[in-house]
Amino acid sequence: MAAKVLINGYGTIGKRVADAVDAQPDMEVYGVVKTSPDYLARLAVTEKGFDLYVPEDRVDAFEDAGIEVAGTVEEAVEAVDVVVDCTPEGIGARNKENLYEPAGVKAIYQGGEEADVADVSFVAQCNYEEALGVDHVRCVSCNTTALCRTLGAVEEEFGVEEAYVTIVRRAADPHQVGKGPINAIVPNPVTVPSHHGPDVKTVLGDLNITTAAVKVPTTLMHMHVVRVVLGDDGVSSDDVVELFENTRRVWVVPHGEGLGSTAELIEMARDLGRPRYDLYEIMVWEESINVEDGVLYYMQAVHQEADVVPENVDAVRAVLELEEDAEKSMDKTDEALGVLERPPFLG
Ligand code: NAD
Repeated sequence: MAAKVLINGYGTIGKRVADAVDAQPDMEVYGVVKTSPDYLARLAVTEKGFDLYVPEDRVDAFEDAGIEVAGTVEEAVEAVDVVVDCTPEGIGARNKENLYEPAGVKAIYQGGEEADVADVSFVAQCNYEEALGVDHVRCVSCNTTALCRTLGAVEEEFGVEEAYVTIVRRAADPHQVGKGPINAIVPNPVTVPSHHGPDVKTVLGDLNITTAAVKVPTTLMHMHVVRVVLGDDGVSSDDVVELFENTRRVWVVPHGEGLGSTAELIEMARDLGRPRYDLYEIMVWEESINVEDGVLYYMQAVHQEADVVPENVDAVRAVLELEEDAEKSMDKTDEALGVLERPPFLG
């Protein structure tokens, strides 16, 4: 029988996770939770066919708006095998205390929560096994997920003495009309190092990493400029290209073939017919991969709305022990979502 999954919070991440869970053979969307009776609530019911659950004190607002409600969130958490909490940062921790723990239900949180909300901070290809059967797991942020995928591979293959990353952050998601800046580059946070390095360590343990971040007026993707002092000084640029070409959920993309910016990468996703132009994979520019005197440099782009989506699906499988083997779980997830190891058109 398919595992029953409730998605609590149906925004940027939640609506994607709902579709991703819906596409899996071994799990089903029991329902999605909304708090506002808006077009997205109507769309979830009428177009997607999801059952809608709302907080007890919001039922009247939805009924007044003529939107069909299947029940309350308080009832739903009692009926499911796991909740994927996709609410804004900080609310997940409150939901843990007020909803999930009283119902005794397993829960998966997002990267906006503090690491201590969960027993394990999770990136499937780094530490799937640690989440097997665990009650509370946190899928780390979009930036942390991306850094764990590529730096985790470099660490495992060549060893990392130290890594330094400059993170160029998109200022807002595309629909967030009220956020800025619209004409500035903002140190964010201004304190260096930034919190991203310690967050990577919640997954990759003792990786020696330092990060700094700035925010820029774009909505499409984040970008990382990475410098790594390798543990092995016999490594060539070609070795790293080959490593990333063989790393799951990472693509090596040629800047010289019309893919020279985040805008062009998103255009490629549109051309591929990806839903919501989602790029689940991390894009590393081939020409940026360079090793000089044991120091590796590369640049990667991260579709912030999408890279954590397959991670949430794998986290469901891990906590419910639907699949013991990380590779097999990722195979199922990736096949259902159309995540490609290396798309043929990239040569
Ligand atoms: P969002 O604001 O787009 O969506 C959150 C949704 O939850 C909204 O629809 C909101 O109305 C709803 N909500 C608010 N309070 C609620 C409650 N009490 N119960 C149920 N629903 C409630 O936010 P998002 O961008 O999807 O972020 C969700 C989480 O994912 C955060 O932890 C964030 O840090 C993390 N995350 C976001 C991104 C991104 O790029 N947007 C990337 C990775 C991780």
